[in-house]
Amino acid sequence: MIADNLPQSVLAIGAHPDDLEWLCAGTLAKFAWLGVKVSMAVATDGSAGHQVIPPKELAEIRRAEARKSAEVIGADFYWLGFSDELIFEDIETRLVFAELIRVAKPDLIITHTPVDYHPDHRVVSRLVFDASFTSGLKNIHTETPYHPGVQPLAYLDTITGANFIPTDFVDISATWGTKVQMLSNFQTQIRWLRDHDNVDFFDMIETQAKARGYQCGVAYAEAFTFENVWPRSRPYRLLP
Ligand SMILES: [Zn+2]
Repeated sequence: MIADNLPQSVLAIGAHPDDLEWLCAGTLAKFAWLGVKVSMAVATDGSAGHQVIPPKELAEIRRAEARKSAEVIGADFYWLGFSDELIFEDIETRLVFAELIRVAKPDLIITHTPVDYHPDHRVVSRLVFDASFTSGLKNIHTETPYHPGVQPLAYLDTITGANFIPTDFVDISATWGTKVQMLSNFQTQIRWLRDHDNVDFFDMIETQAKARGYQCGVAYAEAFTFENVWPRSRPYRLLP
């Protein structure tokens, strides 16, 4: 039984394998726990994110890592397979995103904020905004029929929370363990961030979740904003 006003179906779209787990796994786990259908999509193949493993092999490993993570909460998993660092806004890409939305049929979409740090995150953010309009148009054809309406759009926090002022928080204290379990699948990234950025993956993510928790008075939280242009807003809370 889904609580009043909560979406029936949520689609989260991240640029790279691990972005969604980093920034909203606790929220997605909570949605799943409440009986909401959760879909997780990864736009690029993550093939640039390693010093040693060659791109093709790396993409396969990261795809398996992301799929395993989605399985933890029983989410539907979509792998769009665009080249890491080389995703652009063009007609073909827009239609792939529109098709994804038509297949997943969300009534809430979660993706990167347009002011995020990474070029791929920014491109994906714009593609999702554009495609979530396109997907509702009957006269624009992809394999799947149109998904009526223009969905509300929630934007993810940024890595470390830099350049991001949240308007909405989700208490993820109860699903923190699930988030850690999902993140544990990303062994290639745990190593990459240590070797390439001198970053302790789990410490960085826990510090952010705790800081967002302090901001709203709970142990662990994830933070969001919403796209407020017409007709995206709703007069009730959409997050769990
Ligand atoms: Zn990313």
